Amino acid sequence: MRSPCLLLDIDGVLIPFPDADGSTPATHARHDVVPTGRSADNPVTVWLDPAHGRLLMDVIRTGLVTPVWCTSWRQDATTLIGPLLGLPPLPYVDLPRPQIATSHPNGYLWKRDHVDAWLADAPAVWIDDDFTGLDHAWAAERTAEGTATLLVQPDPPHMVSGGRG
Ligand SMILES: [Mg+2]
Repeated sequence: MRSPCLLLDIDGVLIPFPDADGSTPATHARHDVVPTGRSADNPVTVWLDPAHGRLLMDVIRTGLVTPVWCTSWRQDATTLIGPLLGLPPLPYVDLPRPQIATSHPNGYLWKRDHVDAWLADAPAVWIDDDFTGLDHAWAAERTAEGTATLLVQPDPPHMVSGGRG
């Protein structure tokens, strides 16, 4: 059987959103990175848990899934974020850059139409913190049609507190 794609979001999944008081969990290490197109004197601060890198490596080593970044970090996921977690260069979905004011311009996650086309008929496990009910319905329909599709939606506050949410 063809191994499912493991689609990985970053913001809200691997990188926590700071609490209201600006604090981040002690499990996460601070890094300053310079995304593509940004000047070196204007880095972005991110927090990452090294344990997530080890966890993902354990998953990758099983060979049961094909990991792929699916994030607005795009190529920077491969070149900047992955290496900070000790991950090899993973492929990424080259998402477009729509001018949108919400993650759900049509009621569902903006990435989904692109992911749907990108996956074609591949089974998938997709981890993202920003799905709506319409995304879950899409996954259920895809599964019912014979293409196994599992959405995993961490709750960012819980994900960052324990990293196992
Ligand atoms: Mg996210």
